Amino acid sequence: MSGRPDEIAEETMAFLRHHRLEPIPQNYTLCYAALSGTHPALRKALGEISDEGIRVTQKDADELFAQFLATLPLGLSTEEPDHARALRHQALKIADAVNDAAGVAGAFNLELSSDYDRLKSDPANVATILATTLDRSRKAENELAAAMAELQTLRSELDAAREDSTRDAVTNLRNRRALLAHLTELAEEKRDHVLAICDVDYFKSVNDRYGHVVGDRVLKSIANALSMACAPHLVGRWGGEEFLVIIADTELSDAQRIIEEARESVASRRYKLRETDEPLGSITFSAGLTCVNDTDNSAQDALVRADKLLYRAKSEGRNRSIAA
Ligand code: GH3
Ligand code: MG
Ligand code: MG
Repeated sequence: MSGRPDEIAEETMAFLRHHRLEPIPQNYTLCYAALSGTHPALRKALGEISDEGIRVTQKDADELFAQFLATLPLGLSTEEPDHARALRHQALKIADAVNDAAGVAGAFNLELSSDYDRLKSDPANVATILATTLDRSRKAENELAAAMAELQTLRSELDAAREDSTRDAVTNLRNRRALLAHLTELAEEKRDHVLAICDVDYFKSVNDRYGHVVGDRVLKSIANALSMACAPHLVGRWGGEEFLVIIADTELSDAQRIIEEARESVASRRYKLRETDEPLGSITFSAGLTCVNDTDNSAQDALVRADKLLYRAKSEGRNRSIAA
């Protein structure tokens, strides 16, 4: 995060005004996610458009939203998705750079031992021999520094590429791996955070009645609505028809307010079959929320707690959230 939520909100509004973008939810969500730093790849892409003083148009904003925040059309993933290929290439490049660095160190060691042999056989020439050794040592140091700099660059590129491999292919939300990594980061930073496990109600019956393709579409739509309503907090796909929302630096009661708004927003959507316009009725979810705090050994403890609360929300009638 680059600042407090209210500061980022002001920055977001100023950014929208400056670029003459309507302050509609999609634009606000996009800019907030970019400016808050919760979405580094989006921030970079937006920066590349606007940094040279060029106005970000609504078309740019729509494209960025579609690319980074909206759901992907089904059937896009092929045998080797672009991000997997990019990641593999980055790994190969890193292996090459490490090899180069190891080669430099190995060559320097060989030269050092030959200098040592020369010193033993020709002790009178110590000054000349040491001068060559020193010279080589400086050269090796420079080459190692260059290899290290290259490694740093590759590391940043790898981080950027990893951005894509942490997404779930169906919803385009962060996947479980990314969520776990974020939980570890928050624990390391000792930041209090609220976990909300949201599970779609009676989702199996959507699949049973309309098939899995429609089920996938519904999942994507819920994913979209949930991320919009919870922005800028991290919403990811925990698995199946379950989503995890991670709400950092927020009191449990405020977090529940966010989840309740999201729940109402999802429940108020009217789903229709694309092909026939047949209404699917409303789709709801239930949620269990809890705060991860100092007494928890790990996020796992809190996740178990949130799951139990979710179970209670289900047994008390669904379409509700319970926080404790
Ligand atoms: P409850 O209100 O108790 O949560 O009922 P439910 O039907 O949602 O729960 P249940 O665990 O019985 O069923 C979950 C269903 O979610 C079963 C599975 O087929 C479906 N599901 C999980 N992942 C996907 C997916 O990626 N796409 C589709 N279409 N369905 C999925
Ligand atoms: Mg479930
Ligand atoms: Mg369910």
